[in-house]
Amino acid sequence: MADVVDRATRSRMMSGIRNRDTDPEKKVRQYLHSRGLRFRLHKADLPGKPDIVLKRYMAAILVHGCFWHQHPGCSLARMPKSNVGFWKAKLEANVARDRRTRERLMAGGWRVFEVWECETNEHTLNELFRAITDAA
Ligand SMILES: [Zn+2]
Repeated sequence: MADVVDRATRSRMMSGIRNRDTDPEKKVRQYLHSRGLRFRLHKADLPGKPDIVLKRYMAAILVHGCFWHQHPGCSLARMPKSNVGFWKAKLEANVARDRRTRERLMAGGWRVFEVWECETNEHTLNELFRAITDAA
């Protein structure tokens, strides 16, 4: 049977899967932990099982892979050249689900922070830390 996705797409898919619970999320967790914050992970009783939850600050953090969650304007979010219909539907569904998750969390009084894979650097994480703690 022929391969349905090209090599670039496959490698992107594989890295997306591998990154799911590892690189960007770990970076955010490690940073916040190093700044003294404590949190819960993937809380199943909240909409969308947010990646990182800081109840004390009523903060829910969603760490998004740029491809799977279609980071606007990001080069990592480029649509694959093959199977365009399939990917378009799949990725748009992801984006719609993220929007519903945000809305449901906010309706429950949560402050929602989204961190993109390509932005898990010291500067952005410091801003995130300040945003979480200043308003509390
Ligand atoms: Zn990005």
